[in-house]
Amino acid sequence: MRSHARVVVIGGGVVGCSVLYHLTKHGWTDIVLVERSELTSGSSWHAAGAIHTLNGDPNVAKLQKYTVELYKEIEEISGQSCSVHMTGGMVLAGTKERMDWLKMAHARGRYLGMETELVSAAEAKRLMPLLDERYFVGGLYDPFEGHVDPSGVTYAYAKAARAKGAEISLRNRVIDTVLRPDGSWDVVTEQGTIRAEHVVNCGGLWAREVGRYVGLELPILAMEHMYLLTEDMPEVAEANRATGKELLVILDFEGEIYLRQERGGMLLGTYEQACRPWSPKTTPWEFGHELLEPDLDRIAPSLEVGFRHFPAFQNAGIKKIINGPFTFAPDGNPLVGPVRGLPNYWVACGVMAGFCQGGGVGLALSNWIVESDPGYDVWGMDVARYGDWATLKYTNAKVRENYSRRFRIRFPNEELPEARPLKTTGIYDRLKEHNAVFGDYWGLEHALWFAPPGQEPRDVFSFRRTNDFESVAAECRAVREGVGLLEISNFAKYEVSGPAAEAWLDHLLPNKLPSLGRMVLTPLLNEKGMLIGDFTVARLAADSFYIFGSGMAEQYHMRWFLAHLPKDGGVSVRPLGLALQGLQIAGPKSRELLGRVAGCDVSREAFPFMAFRSADVGMIPAMIGRVTFTGDLGYEIWIQPEYLRSLFDLLLATGADLGIRPFGGRALNAMRLEKSFGTWFREYRPIYTPFEAGLDRFVSMQKPDFIGREGLVRARDAGPRRKLSTFVVDAADADVIADEPIWRDGKVVGWVTSGGYGHSVQKSIALGYVDIERLDASADYAVEILGEIRPARIAEHALFDPSGSRMRL
Ligand SMILES: Cc1cc2nc3c(=O)[nH]c(=O)nc-3n(C[C@H](O)[C@H](O)[C@H](O)COP(=O)(O)OP(=O)(O)OC[C@H]3O[C@@H](n4cnc5c(N)ncnc54)[C@H](O)[C@@H]3O)c2cc1C
Repeated sequence: MRSHARVVVIGGGVVGCSVLYHLTKHGWTDIVLVERSELTSGSSWHAAGAIHTLNGDPNVAKLQKYTVELYKEIEEISGQSCSVHMTGGMVLAGTKERMDWLKMAHARGRYLGMETELVSAAEAKRLMPLLDERYFVGGLYDPFEGHVDPSGVTYAYAKAARAKGAEISLRNRVIDTVLRPDGSWDVVTEQGTIRAEHVVNCGGLWAREVGRYVGLELPILAMEHMYLLTEDMPEVAEANRATGKELLVILDFEGEIYLRQERGGMLLGTYEQACRPWSPKTTPWEFGHELLEPDLDRIAPSLEVGFRHFPAFQNAGIKKIINGPFTFAPDGNPLVGPVRGLPNYWVACGVMAGFCQGGGVGLALSNWIVESDPGYDVWGMDVARYGDWATLKYTNAKVRENYSRRFRIRFPNEELPEARPLKTTGIYDRLKEHNAVFGDYWGLEHALWFAPPGQEPRDVFSFRRTNDFESVAAECRAVREGVGLLEISNFAKYEVSGPAAEAWLDHLLPNKLPSLGRMVLTPLLNEKGMLIGDFTVARLAADSFYIFGSGMAEQYHMRWFLAHLPKDGGVSVRPLGLALQGLQIAGPKSRELLGRVAGCDVSREAFPFMAFRSADVGMIPAMIGRVTFTGDLGYEIWIQPEYLRSLFDLLLATGADLGIRPFGGRALNAMRLEKSFGTWFREYRPIYTPFEAGLDRFVSMQKPDFIGREGLVRARDAGPRRKLSTFVVDAADADVIADEPIWRDGKVVGWVTSGGYGHSVQKSIALGYVDIERLDASADYAVEILGEIRPARIAEHALFDPSGSRMRL
């Protein structure tokens, strides 16, 4: 075994082998994969091997499509068969709601180039003769689905990587990973130590244990998972004869089961409600090519439904039951990417569908290692989406919830109940007294909207407008006509200080820095000039700055900041988390309210738009910024957490005669849509340039040097490929959510990023990107909502206060 390598990949499951192969595609050959046993010694060998592209996140769906398309390539290079059976697949719906969901998935698939087809129950029966059509409303057929041989795939990646020069060390456990003072790694294995530039944790079932070598507690948990294999079935043979084809891969929402043909019989797997974690704290090293004891009682309810829906199973003999563990992250998507604070330490784990996603994970991660950029929008699987709050117990609760909901619909307004409340602020009870309906924002409870007094504060889940509609309208009215109060503790806040703070930020950010007592808006760009964040930057002193951004991206942005921090200690960046909390007052009467309580002159002249001050509010020391995301006159008041309750009480009491009213995140969302304000993760993502997102006005091309400048010049010269636009949609009782296709002249010309109902302008609004050559403000567009094509027109200016005079009042 070699003593030095550019990259050591730990783990020879499908994911590790894919990462290895993709690194060789970049021409890196000084790389080694270390496997504690034989290849496929974790989950990979006993997988059911089903492959499909359907995923709630279109960016992950794209990478799944890539994975399925890759099998031909690795078969050719390796000479190893993956046993690809592209049978096609169908998702079955037993209720109207589930059919709505399928319509949505079908619509989303259109701009991804998926050729799915909505089918009736009768058509479903024709495609899959084994089903009893009485139980189904319809289905979604996808020709691009099938199954593979899991071992074949893993070996094909490994052999293809070897053929291109990579090394694989078997029966050799990695027992430690040690960061050296020079930033390189000692990967200590049973057969010796390898000095490596990069370490990749692809430990699968043992990824947690491997992470613990460096003090990392990865939020993943293995779950037991069962499927059964039947003896040969005459009904299968008959269906094969009648259709001339192998049977489709089926997902049955109602039964919470999946099935496919396996030779002359069937394979049927369940995502049962009574799910069970496996080895919740530590995975035994001695576990290998073995299976867990099957527990038919646990899956009996799913089997009962399955046998009813597919009656042929009632006569089939069960040949074998497989029970094997595989790992999940709390939201069911993989954990991929570099780990904050650990140079050149990468993870690719929690991959729950390695045969659908392994190729995409390997591609993105190898790009990231070699080119410092994944090349795709991988936020949905970025390890940085979780922070310290995703503890072992939190992960356990969320993974069980996710597993048991695998085939459940998640409505757009549905907040999942497990592991809550976890983080709360000092006004949680106060908000409860005001009848708040809470949402979970990356572990933190925050008010979504306030139910009327006497009404139970809960959402009625639906794809259509529902019981929050009137309350959110009233909250918007309160802001637009008077003054509203919103908690903003869920923003991310960072303190940047030190003698080199100004120079560092100037290089980091594409906009000019604010002068003393001022704020600026600025995107954050990667080296290619693509958007990786949008911030408000405030300057309190010559060497003291505050950055405000998206709360969910705190880990993501801290990782970027730390990776770009000078080594000499001239700059300190501190994520403030809940150590700094805040309330926002917004609306035309907010100045009058602030004037009553603030210990500073709040007149327009003394405290103009985008000013930032230290000032007392009542007895409370605070920092105040004159800006709000509602696009109205307003102020963000930042304080230490111990003052939050008194500030909340003070503002409500002092503003009572002004009609002050608490408002929640849904009203804020409605108001920012009326202003065409985009948000991180929806409108602003690493697949867009500032020119496309309309953020170029916050970029100063006069600045000679900042991260992403060269990429930006290239993007400017090439011109935008698409443009973010605001649409007014002729909606009925459902507004867009996100990812709906935008149509023009019968063709899909873009996609929606977010939307909803603008209560102040009484219009249904969608924000979305449209191909530049198909962009015409006078053209007729349409947006597909729940299978209906709804007419839409471009609004060239913000629908509310287009001149922006209200926020500058
Ligand atoms: C019953 C069942 C059915 C499934 N069906 C499907 C399906 O239909 N479709 C699908 O896409 N997915 C399916 N899966 C999931 C799929 O198996 C996993 O997504 C995939 O196997 C994950 O691969 P991995 O490489 O991340 O992890 P693993 O397969 O667990 O591989 C990790 C490897 O790392 C090695 N390792 C760990 N620690 C060390 C160390 N310290 N030193 C050296 N080596 C180490 C292990 O020995 C192991 O070989 C199923 C899983 C199960 C259990």
